[in-house]
Amino acid sequence: MSDAPIFASESFKLTAEEIALTNQARELAARNFAPRAAAIDREARFPTENYADLRSTGLLGVCVPKAYGGLGASYRAYALTAAEIGRYCGATALTFNMHVCSCLWSGTLADALDMPDDVRAAHHQRRGRHYARIIEDGKIYSQPFSEGGAVAAAAGTVPFATTATKVDGGWVVNGKKIFASLSGHADYYGVLCTEVELETELKRRNSLYLAVPANAAGVSIIGDWDPLGMRGTVSRTAVFKDVMVGAEEAIMPPGVYHQAAARWPHMFLTLTPTYMGLAQAAYDFTVKYLRGEWPGSPDKRRGMAVKQSNVARMRLMLEQTKALWFQTISEARLDPSREELLRAYAAQYTVMENANELAQLAIRTCGGQSMLKSLPLERLYRDSRCGALMLPWTADICIERIGHDALYQPGESDA
Ligand SMILES: Cc1cc2nc3c(=O)[nH]c(=O)nc-3n(C[C@H](O)[C@H](O)[C@H](O)COP(=O)(O)OP(=O)(O)OC[C@H]3O[C@@H](n4cnc5c(N)ncnc54)[C@H](O)[C@@H]3O)c2cc1C
Repeated sequence: MSDAPIFASESFKLTAEEIALTNQARELAARNFAPRAAAIDREARFPTENYADLRSTGLLGVCVPKAYGGLGASYRAYALTAAEIGRYCGATALTFNMHVCSCLWSGTLADALDMPDDVRAAHHQRRGRHYARIIEDGKIYSQPFSEGGAVAAAAGTVPFATTATKVDGGWVVNGKKIFASLSGHADYYGVLCTEVELETELKRRNSLYLAVPANAAGVSIIGDWDPLGMRGTVSRTAVFKDVMVGAEEAIMPPGVYHQAAARWPHMFLTLTPTYMGLAQAAYDFTVKYLRGEWPGSPDKRRGMAVKQSNVARMRLMLEQTKALWFQTISEARLDPSREELLRAYAAQYTVMENANELAQLAIRTCGGQSMLKSLPLERLYRDSRCGALMLPWTADICIERIGHDALYQPGESDA
């Protein structure tokens, strides 16, 4: 029997678009991605065959606007769709998010942001090229932001140390990105960098978001990849040494990423759908396992009161996580209120931490046999541990911002 949707369409009043996309994603991921997930994890290899499926089903263009031949999914429709994928293969959903963000940010977000008419017209022309690569040629974009500095530029407090120096016809890019998911597999690296202004220090407002062709001279991928979880993301280090990038490769016009980060902050919440899916998967596994329905599970174990009590705790945690997350993805918009922003941090923290807590509880509840590598639970446990580390909204950063912003109005200080 196929799995029920994470968010029942009638209860959560999903739109027709959301129902169609989530059904499509769930059926595809359950049928094709779930059986491949163990080998992808074991071998720490990129899920190339899953991307072939995403390409052939049109999902690669899920957030490419319809006017450009894509599926034109809204922010919420995408989040719900990605959660269904994360349920069956975390690494596929997480890497898919890096790809989709290049479309979502240059599409839905950019449409809401301010820019002069001529800048917008040029942006539309450039994004048309990016979208055509995806829709017509099946190209994949990644999103290497993180640099590993002592103060994290990806957290948005200091400028990116990767630089873009203006030259005739474009920029010359230099720098290094750690944890570059899809490294060696993306066709374009969506690099966040800082445009250099002569004789001034780097400034955050000069952030540029450029599509660097993976095969450009000066691009190299270094280091190995043998991590705890999310092994199929293949997040090695990308190095850019005097890479010439054409002016047409700007994914957003200069200055617009900075505006987006300030005015459309839910753009950073898009790492959560993967982990919402993992949370649901840990719960689903537990129920099936204790009912003796999971292939390879021992006889029914649902009669023990303590196991029922643990399942109840898991259900409470899952319902709380779903409710908060659904509310938050529903209110994502330009210039959210202070309350909405605080709620977004709370949702990020809750999904990332609860996904792992649920996986941990699932192992404890199901028992020793459930953590064998022949079953998916131990992978869910390892994959879900990675969520709280993801910049710019790590669990620690969320706690820091919620605590501060709850006590200080904008501009207030004790000095
Ligand atoms: C599986 C996986 C895939 C990833 N894929 C990508 C990707 O595709 N693209 C990409 O750009 N990154 C990616 N990342 C990287 C991720 O977003 C972080 O940048 C990375 O985990 C940071 O590692 P670090 O050791 O530099 O930690 P640090 O940045 O040193 O952070 C350590 C901790 O310090 C805290 N901290 C850091 N900066 C601040 C601050 N300014 N204020 C308060 N607290 C702070 C945070 O709590 C953080 O957890 C991925 C990470 C993982 C685990």
